[in-house]
Amino acid sequence: MTCPSCGEKGILDILYDYDEIHKTLTKEKLKQNTDNSMWRYRDLMPVADDTDVSGFLRIGWTPLYESKSLRDELGIRKLYVKDDGLNPTASLKDRASGVAVAKAIELGYDTIACSSTGNAASSCAGSAARMGLKAVIFVPERAPEGKVAQLMIFGAKVVSVHGDYKATFDLSKAAIAKYGWYNRNAGINPVMTEGKKTVALEIAEQLNFEPTDWVACSVGDGCTIGGVYNGFYDLYKLGLIDRIPKILGVQSTGCCPFVDAANAGRDLVPTEENTIADSIAVGVPRNPKKALRAVRDSKGAWIAVTDEQILDTMRVLGRHEGVFGEPAGVTATAGVREAVARGIIRPDETVTAISTGSGLKDVRNALKAAGKPKLCEPDLDALEASGILG
Ligand SMILES: *Cc1c(COP(=O)(O)O)cnc(C)c1O
Repeated sequence: MTCPSCGEKGILDILYDYDEIHKTLTKEKLKQNTDNSMWRYRDLMPVADDTDVSGFLRIGWTPLYESKSLRDELGIRKLYVKDDGLNPTASLKDRASGVAVAKAIELGYDTIACSSTGNAASSCAGSAARMGLKAVIFVPERAPEGKVAQLMIFGAKVVSVHGDYKATFDLSKAAIAKYGWYNRNAGINPVMTEGKKTVALEIAEQLNFEPTDWVACSVGDGCTIGGVYNGFYDLYKLGLIDRIPKILGVQSTGCCPFVDAANAGRDLVPTEENTIADSIAVGVPRNPKKALRAVRDSKGAWIAVTDEQILDTMRVLGRHEGVFGEPAGVTATAGVREAVARGIIRPDETVTAISTGSGLKDVRNALKAAGKPKLCEPDLDALEASGILG
């Protein structure tokens, strides 16, 4: 799964025969394809032709909303928000877990395992439950309740690890080696990135194969951003798009090993995990090489935003667009705002921000962002006097 010379810092790329794929995957064929899920791109996914995916949860084909008010506020040409919180277990991770579960079944495993800050876990548990696979999940003790509740409901064996994400990952790795389960760890198994890349395929198709100048994505381990690059790369190689969008990698200032490394022009060093955006609180990213490649080869940029900017963007996306993201979910949009302010994204450019997870996953931080409602006695005079109506 990983590169023999880079070790675990470099998961392998899955390579495709584009000439062959071009025969079956064209714009016209996609237009006629009635499968409104990520499996519409299965020609570009690493599953065998005879693997049956018809019974899976409905993953992908999430809406791409044009965001006019935020666009005007930022003064850029166009802004879209891809709401991947609308996946079945409410995050982009469903894309990776769907492919992982398909692969595990294809290879004859009866148990799938992963470690996760939360969303990989809940998506893995959900897809496994649906397809009758056992799931063993390792989460750090700080994982938000909403995500843990999902695990319990989906009936996974849950190991809540007394320690940070690194400790959680290391324990899962040792256990997977010992018990021989299928490994859904994104920073190790290249199949996961190939699921995540379908978000890029969708963005391109939803924009009639004229993707925006920029695509922004929040970054923890670096597998999502690596997948976004892979998706656009595939389409470019197939001649379906004529350029790869610039990719904006966004982290929280409370945990930004990629941004620090890019600014200092050096390798990543382990950092503390000190942000409310738990899904991207990754001090030791598992897919550094591919994440760095995504930004470098697309001529994009790295940027960090504060937790205050993240909370503010939660409110802005909710109030202006009706999109409710978890902190890591709105981080890409927060990054777009910062990149416009710094002149990295220019006024004449177009942008897509991926919202990677639903705000219902982490209600505590949502209430921190938006406050709690005032209590009102049940009569009209009290309502009038309360000031709630403004
Ligand atoms: C996992 C996750 C990310 C980041 O993906 P990585 O592959 O870890 O970089 C961003 N947002 C949400 C909501 C996630 O669950």
